[in-house]
Amino acid sequence: MKNDCVFCAIAAGEIPSFKVCEDDAVLAYLDINPFTKGHTLVIPKKHSTGLLDTDDAVLAAVVARVRKVAARLKEALPCDGFNILQNNGEAAGQTVKHLHFHIVPRYAGEPFVFESHKGDMEELKALAGRVRMA
Ligand code: 5GP
Ligand code: ZN
Repeated sequence: MKNDCVFCAIAAGEIPSFKVCEDDAVLAYLDINPFTKGHTLVIPKKHSTGLLDTDDAVLAAVVARVRKVAARLKEALPCDGFNILQNNGEAAGQTVKHLHFHIVPRYAGEPFVFESHKGDMEELKALAGRVRMA
């Protein structure tokens, strides 16, 4: 493996994968430990670690492919909905340091949890002020 990156090795064909689609810049394949049936990963072939160090043009190509693959999954599985997940950094659960988007198909009637808590309006207001962009 040239740079110790599992996903670069998959893109280079050095590690096998169940490919869903591929072009010059982008590859989509099934996650080896799926959250749900049809869980798919979409990666750029060119290495970057996450959202913040990826070229805009590469990111645009990957996101366009995410949408096409999601549409195909919805029809072919079929699934009732899907989540797009993209982790950045260990604190966010990123285990493979090569940009990837998860497409997680969802099925009506299957349990699904994202934990939320009631928002504190003052805290939300202050946070938006700190984050708001010019
Ligand atoms: P992360 O937690 O970094 O966002 O997600 C990494 C994902 O890559 C995990 O869902 C994991 O199951 C998947 N994964 C790790 N190694 C391999 C592999 O060699 N092949 C495939 N197909 N998926 C992998
Ligand atoms: Zn890589």
